[in-house]
Amino acid sequence: MTDSPAPVPADAAYLDPTRPIPERVADLVSRMTVPEKVGQMMQLPADMYVAGDVVDSVDTLVLDFRVGSVLHASPEQLARAHALVARTRLRIPLLIGEDCIHGHSFFRGATIYPTQLGMAATWDPELVRRVGRATAVEVAPTGVHWTFSPVLCIARDLRWGRVSETFGEDPFLIGELASALVHGYQGDGLSDPEAILACAKHFAAYSETQGGRDASEADVSRRKMLSWYTPPFERVAREGCATFMLGYQSIDGVPVTINDWLLNEVLRKEWGYSGMLVTDWDNVGQLVRIQGISPDFADAAARAVLAGNDMVMSTPEFFDGAQEAIEKGTLPIEAIDAAVSRILHVKFALGLFEDPRLPDVERQRAVIGSSEHAELNLEVARRSLVLLQNDGALPVASSDPDGPGRQLSIAVVGPNAHDEHTILGDWAGASGQAPWLRGIGHPREMTSTVYDGLRELGEARGWDVEHTTGAGILTLQPHPLGGTMPDGQPRFPVAVPVAPDAEELDRARELARAADVVVAVVGDRIELVGEGRSTATLDLFGAQTALLEAMAQECATSGARLVVVVIASKPQIIPEHVLDRANAVVWAANPGMRGGQAIAELIAGDIEPSGRLPISWPRHVGQQPVFYNAITDQHGDRYADLTQEPQWVFGDGLSYTSVAYSDLEVTTPVVGTGDVVRARVTLTNTGERPALETVQVYVDDVVASVTWAGKELKAYRQVEVAPGESVVVDLAVPVADLTIVDAAARRVVEPGRFALLVGPSSRTSDLLRAELDVVA
Ligand code: BGC
Repeated sequence: MTDSPAPVPADAAYLDPTRPIPERVADLVSRMTVPEKVGQMMQLPADMYVAGDVVDSVDTLVLDFRVGSVLHASPEQLARAHALVARTRLRIPLLIGEDCIHGHSFFRGATIYPTQLGMAATWDPELVRRVGRATAVEVAPTGVHWTFSPVLCIARDLRWGRVSETFGEDPFLIGELASALVHGYQGDGLSDPEAILACAKHFAAYSETQGGRDASEADVSRRKMLSWYTPPFERVAREGCATFMLGYQSIDGVPVTINDWLLNEVLRKEWGYSGMLVTDWDNVGQLVRIQGISPDFADAAARAVLAGNDMVMSTPEFFDGAQEAIEKGTLPIEAIDAAVSRILHVKFALGLFEDPRLPDVERQRAVIGSSEHAELNLEVARRSLVLLQNDGALPVASSDPDGPGRQLSIAVVGPNAHDEHTILGDWAGASGQAPWLRGIGHPREMTSTVYDGLRELGEARGWDVEHTTGAGILTLQPHPLGGTMPDGQPRFPVAVPVAPDAEELDRARELARAADVVVAVVGDRIELVGEGRSTATLDLFGAQTALLEAMAQECATSGARLVVVVIASKPQIIPEHVLDRANAVVWAANPGMRGGQAIAELIAGDIEPSGRLPISWPRHVGQQPVFYNAITDQHGDRYADLTQEPQWVFGDGLSYTSVAYSDLEVTTPVVGTGDVVRARVTLTNTGERPALETVQVYVDDVVASVTWAGKELKAYRQVEVAPGESVVVDLAVPVADLTIVDAAARRVVEPGRFALLVGPSSRTSDLLRAELDVVA
């Protein structure tokens, strides 16, 4: 197929910013050749893998493929890509995409926030919106227009490697936080020069994996999809999230890439979504390479476009495949035109034809890693910490038996106590996805580890803070199948647990013996996290349990306090016998650049713990999946050899004070389907420190036409309660939210008896209950 290289007149309608976008789009599409249209639908990485080697492909992408979008470009490649557009016939500006999923992850020196799971532990949509805004402010001047965030997947089997990218297990909480993040990214709308495109991913039910293994078949019915997996997506679709990314998985035999029901019936027709769809990495190629659905790339391209995909990520073969399908007549040009039009619409809406939003170095200097963003980051990190267990050992300052004047000695041990990368988590710095930051990461001085944080705080207080690692986590071995995958991408090596090292353990024991407080910082590391890196167990890897046992033993002998800090992408199993001997346990889900400082402040009592678990914390990997909103059933509450109760439930989290709940009253005991259920509850701070309490409101649909979750979160409020104070908290849940999905897969409110369950966590024994009736 050849181009018709007609020059573009200066007065072409698409170049005229005064004309309405649909007119500009139509004019431009009418001028495009078939290869230009197909290229416009492609998004390729700046570095392509050829037989395992990275090859800079920017020139090829822009000048030969004339791609519509580039992803994973280093700052230098990105500037070059933008500049090359001037050498193309139509000069269609590029969309640059990147996974800026908890900050501008791969821009050296940008602000890196807690991972999404960490943000979820704050339960605070406004804070999350501010993170989205601050991220957009840092991303926009770097020439990137599009972040592949947020993730709206529901975390289920925690062995899955991507749990840290989620907002946890609850569709309502996910919807609240995802909506906030999308609003933050997109600001006042796409014409705002500091707006970036959000991308709701991975549509839908990608997380419903087999055995937690990444990107495996999702065994979900349509009804189950509509019950729990699609509602958060529906919310952001209706609220104007500019783009959606499709998952890797197939459902009931149909890869999502070509799932007509999900893409056309549900997303486009029912929800009226007119935004842009992007496949995930090589989804179209996988139809041929892995899923065995298409015999060749022409067939795969035709199917993908007909199903409604607009942008095709990382499948170079789409270029020839789509053109072949058009020639053969299996792919009507109208379908291509529709996809190209949606892509161009986004580019016009961003105003890229007038201002391609090129990198602006001066602005970068002003906003990237600014002190204002560092402050916000610290605030999010503080709020993300979840205190799971505490016998009064924390905060250390107030519980020091010899008074504040005495020099406190703190031993900070463990492999994650001073690890500058783990504190940041996946998709950041040296985590591996960005070739230009591998082995480099973010500037060390921007990152505070737990050891850094305690040392700094300790200096002012005269504490003696010592550190040793005490235990290793893993070593790497080459993958038995070789280092390269069939598509040329590198294959991850295999993680092998390291055995306890007697010398390292002895050093840790020695420090522990001399300490008043042992802070043992354990968890996982990037080699156990992420895509293609699911884990078979949730046990603390390597020599970490041995270290905790040794520390527990030393503390039992010396009377020192043992504080276990888990810095981990997802819950890790801490053996019962260790928990019994730990005075306090804190979870910090990859808390970002300021994480170490925040953890130190929490330990010192300079801040109040307020994070709440957005996910159930299991006792044993064999409980997987365990989540609070499971369908009520008969014998599912336990195994012969183990309870199904998690160690800590969804919503759990302690404060340094205690808050009592009383007098739950539904003030609207009989409501119609258009009404709002109103209730109030009294909180009393019975301790001596202030609380930021997350008042959780669950609903039980007492009798429904289908089996349903025994309780579902429908609302929550975060309330400050001063020591000794009582506050009455008003609660509201629209009756329209008291839905189930019936046997015919319709979301409905079924009139009848309901109960509101209100309390500090999802644990039944923590919840007050009051009933109400919904009348037709
Ligand atoms: C991941 C996506 C990501 C994309 C681009 C894929 O492998 O599944 O979440 O946005 O790569 O990096």
